[in-house]
Amino acid sequence: MTEVQTVRGPINTSALGRVLVHEHVFLMNMEYTQNYRPDFFEDATVAKAAAKLNALKAVGIDTIIDLTVLGLGRHIPSLAKVAALTDVNMIVSTGAYTFNEVPGPFAFYGPGLLCDAPEPMIDHFVKDIEQGIAGTGIRAGELKCAIDMPGLTPGVERIMRAVARAHVITGTPITVHTAPRAETGLIVQRVLAEEGVNLEDVIIGHCGDTNDVDYLMKLADKGSILGMDRFGINFTMTTADRVQTVVQMVKRGYVDHLSLSHDCVCWSDFFPTVENYNAAMPEHNYLHISHQVIPALLEAGVTQAQIDRMFIDNPRRHFEAAANRFAARN
Ligand SMILES: [Zn+2]
Repeated sequence: MTEVQTVRGPINTSALGRVLVHEHVFLMNMEYTQNYRPDFFEDATVAKAAAKLNALKAVGIDTIIDLTVLGLGRHIPSLAKVAALTDVNMIVSTGAYTFNEVPGPFAFYGPGLLCDAPEPMIDHFVKDIEQGIAGTGIRAGELKCAIDMPGLTPGVERIMRAVARAHVITGTPITVHTAPRAETGLIVQRVLAEEGVNLEDVIIGHCGDTNDVDYLMKLADKGSILGMDRFGINFTMTTADRVQTVVQMVKRGYVDHLSLSHDCVCWSDFFPTVENYNAAMPEHNYLHISHQVIPALLEAGVTQAQIDRMFIDNPRRHFEAAANRFAARN
């Protein structure tokens, strides 16, 4: 029996059901929102988010992993309000998101810096996992970091190694935002393996942004799960292209290494209003996979059992295998 932390407390992995592995509820630059977006703090924003999640539950999705970490405006009190209005399980994350430098509070604080100390990020992440976030008691169930086109900058590497060490200390699995065009998933696997992470405990995010199946097979051959996780973001790849990549990987025998998601949001300050976002990316909504992608996969010959593997079994294994490995070495 393995427990996973959600906003409403621990649940058994058997209760995860169908999981979207890479989503967001609220996504923002918190400083901007504090100063210029009072609408975020209105009850209506929470109610609308809950309504979107309830629509997701109605099409059979039970759980989302919310990968909003430091750098993306994580705001747990608002998520707690949403959780009270929906039955969808929300697993929240800890870690940090940057393509270049560490967040400002760590620029002078850390090993060998002006304020010399052991890596403070490790303590932050472990506290989020073991005690809860920002005094809410809500504990993180996933670790997250990022590496994009600039590659392994000093800041990106420092965060990645801190995430890896927090994983070793807690057994919490990891998702990494990657840029397939620069094949940064391979760098992730090298760095995390150096830190003692079993690569089966890692989801390589945004793998669906490429149709280079040779690259994807290299990542999967090392054991990681691939995030085919941006369905509906059509300015990089169309849904048809993204579906084809999944079909090709299934045909090659990699169904146990695929997971599906949208990388969607309910509310974000990246657009002046939610309506602007919906108009700019009409297919980028929580129901896109259920309404468009699954029918397309079935039509292309992927079976319902294979879809269940991607939606149910693989995310469950992501949490169970990491926890079992952790228990075995402690
Ligand atoms: Zn994301």
